[in-house]
Amino acid sequence: MKRFLGVDLGGTNIKYAVIEIDGTSIKEVVKDQISTEAKNGPDHVTDRIATLIKKIDGEMPIVGVAVAVPGIFNHDTGEILLFPNLPGAWENYPFTKKLREATRKSIALINDARAFCLAESTLGAGRGHRYVACIVMGTGVGGGLVIDGKVHEGATRGAGEIAHQVVAPDGPVCGCGTRGCVEALTSSAAISEMAGTNTPEEAYERAKAGDENAIAAFRSAGKWLGIALANVNAVFSPEIFIVGGGVAQAGDLVLDFIRAELHERNHLWPNSAFKVVPAQLSFFAGATGAALKAAAAAGTQLSFTSIT
Ligand SMILES: [Zn+2]
Repeated sequence: MKRFLGVDLGGTNIKYAVIEIDGTSIKEVVKDQISTEAKNGPDHVTDRIATLIKKIDGEMPIVGVAVAVPGIFNHDTGEILLFPNLPGAWENYPFTKKLREATRKSIALINDARAFCLAESTLGAGRGHRYVACIVMGTGVGGGLVIDGKVHEGATRGAGEIAHQVVAPDGPVCGCGTRGCVEALTSSAAISEMAGTNTPEEAYERAKAGDENAIAAFRSAGKWLGIALANVNAVFSPEIFIVGGGVAQAGDLVLDFIRAELHERNHLWPNSAFKVVPAQLSFFAGATGAALKAAAAAGTQLSFTSIT
């Protein structure tokens, strides 16, 4: 039996999960969280994660650790390139090196949406499928592709950014710098603005009560995502599309609009070929996915017949 720790670094909380793998059996033994205290900057946040790793390793020895991070990093050096939603001087910060020196453990990094996708495809809604595409709707809109239980990274090692497809060439400016990405049109802020509410949750409540503006906001988000998923289908042909994240709590209200647009845009295959489903795992999916990444980095096969 081998134990792995996954840490999900978020703007508000650091979530973590410990998994035990014994052949084709996997067991989740710990799921918890601490506050990030992000405003105190990179050294402080790194110190909190290092302290957490040492504490867990002292209680139950772990083979390896992976950290799911909210942004882009250098896969070779483990330096952070961009954390758009965390304060402080993270650019070029030697995150992996500092964690390794402080803990003497093997440390891997993974993008947080990719960690979510790895967890959902291995243990959640995508279980048993070989080709999986995920979208994570929230403040930003993340994505990921999994093939045969492995995150598809591509030549840049950053493949899977489904929401940075340009679907409206003259559309709004996106956080990534270009115009008309799916993210700029379907983020929490975009939905709230169109619905005339402060949050997407409020938009959802109003839409359920029949508010036309709120329904139109979800219809619009569903349309753009449906176009994006039709494109993903043309290139990647996943067996299943998994939609997760805070905004996806709206369930069929947004999923039905996505499905309708996907069907409208596709003329090559029967509509029954597309499965667009909600994510199944809890909000610890990112931490669980990071733990799976740590296991994969240590050469473990992520194929399980027993999940507890
Ligand atoms: Zn973009």
